[in-house]
Amino acid sequence: MTSRLTSTVALVTGASSGIGRATALRLAEEGAAVALVARRKDRVEELARLVTDRGGRALVVPADVTDAAGAAAAVGRTVEHFGRLDILVNAAGVMLNGDSLLARLEEWDRMVDVNVKGVMYVVKAALPHLLDAAKSADREVADVINISSVAGRAAAPTVAIYNATKFGVTAATEAWRQEYAAQNLRFSVIEPGAVETELFGHQQEHAQQVENQRFDGVEKLHPEDIADAVAYIATGPRRRAVNEIVIRPTDQSF
Ligand code: NDP
Repeated sequence: MTSRLTSTVALVTGASSGIGRATALRLAEEGAAVALVARRKDRVEELARLVTDRGGRALVVPADVTDAAGAAAAVGRTVEHFGRLDILVNAAGVMLNGDSLLARLEEWDRMVDVNVKGVMYVVKAALPHLLDAAKSADREVADVINISSVAGRAAAPTVAIYNATKFGVTAATEAWRQEYAAQNLRFSVIEPGAVETELFGHQQEHAQQVENQRFDGVEKLHPEDIADAVAYIATGPRRRAVNEIVIRPTDQSF
């Protein structure tokens, strides 16, 4: 294990799959103790075993981020167990795109609940602990890294509500960045293009066909490509705040 984040504690939501999973592994490799938050307990337990087998420290925290009390309890358990919180990565998210006439209202609700309210609940609970860490940490800084999307920068047909949630995450991150910069709490947003994960598989059949056509011939990013960006942000010295990173597959022009 390298040690740029030794003595730090990171909480990663969406740790059971894709970008969150790769990010938790990467932060653990950098020396952070990691709290692994997602609903699928078996998946995060498997990841925790992998982290500990590699010499790291991990805590399994099954939680649904759409439940404010559950999100707060996840943050509370992390701080109780590890004693602090230095880095928060909000990677939990869902994408349920498609023709707005065929979409189910519950799918739109779910995107708002996970992608916006989930981030809101976890950030709110984590803020006091992150501000404490920013004051007391050897590295003199703390981090919130929110995973938005290129869909948080450019709208597209059939993507309306996912666009709305990701524009929201990007905007809130920038507002929080301005609010907390003077207290050494950095807020960063990462906006990936297409990444090879489970995200695309939760959509209705008609939406999956549209997405397959849009990304035909595109070699998608790997979750580790985004984890690299998280590590770049979090391991930077106090003076360097990376506000925003956009990462597209080379073949993705839109
Ligand atoms: P995955 O579907 O692979 O992972 C999504 C994660 O979110 C899972 O760990 C899932 O865990 C978690 N999650 C979903 N709902 C909840 C919930 N209610 N409470 C807690 N955790 C939840 O997708 P990705 O890794 O691709 O997505 C990660 C983030 O990256 C998302 O915000 C997504 O919007 C964003 N993104 C992804 C892109 C891509 O092309 N893949 C591109 C741009 C952005 P569980 O089901 O166990 O709860």
